[in-house]
Amino acid sequence: PSLNLQIDSITELAAAAQQLIDFAANQRIFLFFGDMGAGKTTFIKSLCEALGVTESVTSPTFSIVNEYRGHGHTVYHFDFYRLKSQSEAFDMGYEEYFYSDAYCFIEWPEKIADLLPERYLKISIKAISESAREIIAEHI
Ligand code: ATP
Ligand code: MG
Repeated sequence: PSLNLQIDSITELAAAAQQLIDFAANQRIFLFFGDMGAGKTTFIKSLCEALGVTESVTSPTFSIVNEYRGHGHTVYHFDFYRLKSQSEAFDMGYEEYFYSDAYCFIEWPEKIADLLPERYLKISIKAISESAREIIAEHI
């Protein structure tokens, strides 16, 4: 089964984030697919807020991973866009993050194609217009 969300404006992301967290159930590894500017980071900010993160969520492009604390949850936000090789992910100890019980929100998972976990939530975000987005989630 998949979850199909049509977002007409950024103001609808908060409700969509809660729906996605409910749909994820026990799955805490979320892989985000979508072009540059599709809205991955923006949606992840809403997901963090839904989990009770009060710190500001910024793209971890230069640090690869940022850590946040929500209500009873740890959240790791990865952006692998600038990864030069998959061995860099090994060096940062990616497995410890993936196989913890924290939420892992991952941008540009294509960069670690050989290291992906067996099961995860796949989220595809597509820009329909300047403010509208199609978000499709499925359990893999
Ligand atoms: P990158 O691959 O470069 O990291 P990204 O997918 O993370 O890109 P964002 O940094 O989230 O993309 O940028 C999305 C842009 O689209 C932001 O400027 C945001 O304000 C805008 N936007 C407009 N409407 C929406 C929407 N409904 N959902 C998400 N973003 C939206
Ligand atoms: Mg981003």
